[in-house]
Amino acid sequence: MADTPDSSSTDKVVRTEAEWKKILTPDQYYVLREKGTERPFTNKYDEHFEPGVYECAACSAVLFSSETKFNSGCGWPAFYAAKAGDRVTLTPDNSFGMKRTEVTCTRCGSHLGHIFNDAPQTPTGQRYCINSVSLKFVPKSELSDAEKKQAENAESESKPATDK
Ligand code: FE
Repeated sequence: MADTPDSSSTDKVVRTEAEWKKILTPDQYYVLREKGTERPFTNKYDEHFEPGVYECAACSAVLFSSETKFNSGCGWPAFYAAKAGDRVTLTPDNSFGMKRTEVTCTRCGSHLGHIFNDAPQTPTGQRYCINSVSLKFVPKSELSDAEKKQAENAESESKPATDK
């Protein structure tokens, strides 16, 4: 069995926390597995607008496209749609006395960030506020054939997630 799950597969990725700890850096583990939040503005992809896709840093599922990334000014990478609605899972999150909706990777269950309905300047009105450390950017020119296919398929499915 390969160490890195095939990114074209949508099969669930299930690992123990001990396994995740070995695979991920301490910063990635804190955000992805412990639902932490990285510092705003100083993170890797906030002001990054190259063409390509953003994969889950934990399981390599293609989650977001540079085509739906926008500069929200919030200090974290913002997208107005996921590559396909079902690649991410939305769950009510009432922690810290706030009413928010958590965004997790459907494939591996890792924490990505939160979604807000506060982006009227975008086609969906939604803002996926995602931690850079939860993502891995792959430039368009470096996408494998499998990833290209996955990205193209997702493009046609791409739709705003329904917020509950
Ligand atoms: Fe994942």
